[in-house]
Amino acid sequence: MEKITRADLARRRRINIYKKIIIGFFFVMTITPIILSVFLMVKVHKLEKKLDYVLSGNGDYLTYRSSHDALLGDTENENYLLDPSIKSVLGNTKSETKLANNTEQAVDTEGLADNSTDAADSKEIKETGNKTSKKKAKRVYLTFDDGPSVYTGQILDILAANDVKATFFVIGKDKDYYEYYKRIVAEGHTLGMHSYTHDYKKLYASTESFGEEIEELQSLLKDVTGVESKIFRFPGGSSNSVSELSIDNYIAYLNEHGINYYDWNALSGDAVDSSLTPEQLVDNIMKDVRNNKDSIVLMHDLTKVHATVESLQMLIDTLKSEGYEILPIDENTPLIQHVSCNTVEE
Ligand SMILES: [Zn+2]
Repeated sequence: MEKITRADLARRRRINIYKKIIIGFFFVMTITPIILSVFLMVKVHKLEKKLDYVLSGNGDYLTYRSSHDALLGDTENENYLLDPSIKSVLGNTKSETKLANNTEQAVDTEGLADNSTDAADSKEIKETGNKTSKKKAKRVYLTFDDGPSVYTGQILDILAANDVKATFFVIGKDKDYYEYYKRIVAEGHTLGMHSYTHDYKKLYASTESFGEEIEELQSLLKDVTGVESKIFRFPGGSSNSVSELSIDNYIAYLNEHGINYYDWNALSGDAVDSSLTPEQLVDNIMKDVRNNKDSIVLMHDLTKVHATVESLQMLIDTLKSEGYEILPIDENTPLIQHVSCNTVEE
């Protein structure tokens, strides 16, 4: 029998260690890509679901992104859908906010202005300060898209209890919902149009089909309520990337027919993610509202979103406590549009 020396033992030990290192290395190299793949698959699946939801015509959210805070964390993925023109709008909003902040600072420093060595500067600061103090409360327009739904009655009740008027961009519904069109008008809210079917494919198929959708809804609302609606919100917003035909065609149609359209510059995200809590919806809206001059707030009146109804009282309380004026859209409302109607010649 061969005699095992100490040197042999040491060598075997070394070989064992090398073996372990090599096995460990291959193990890590195999497991890591598997974990990564599973993670990416889940991520892709989530994004696909979101995309399906938007393309099915239920989401109005993709086209506008808060200029300051990402609503849901992964807006990077949504950003690529943004129309370049909105990016410029967002850019403007940012500079407006900067301006507003400067004005606030000017007010803050008003008391110190007299001590300033630069007389011209202090005069300017004072003037800006006076202007700001004379300015009325910031205005907020609450809007509800896609209704009427089984929750329209609850929304109207909450608005009535708070003596708040809002705007409803409705779609065409059957007789069961006519009472809500009527209540919206009777209770002093603004009745806006949001297309008859809200079916992106049909609505944005051609200027003709777009016109038919508007006419059909306008005459239905007139028959039921006696009011001819003259305001519209594009499903997906005027900046939507769903329509293959340029949005200018539809804007030209609206201009011709004297119909104003309104997009939004604040949103709750209620149609993006149904798991958002009422508190989160209010937080999302307030983040935008606090950064805007005037705000048109996008919410949804949808059977599948009850959190919006639950959040409404809290939202109204928060807005009122921060001194905002809540108004329905009318002819004095600033035209908040992702794609301006003035860019289209008649
Ligand atoms: Zn909609």
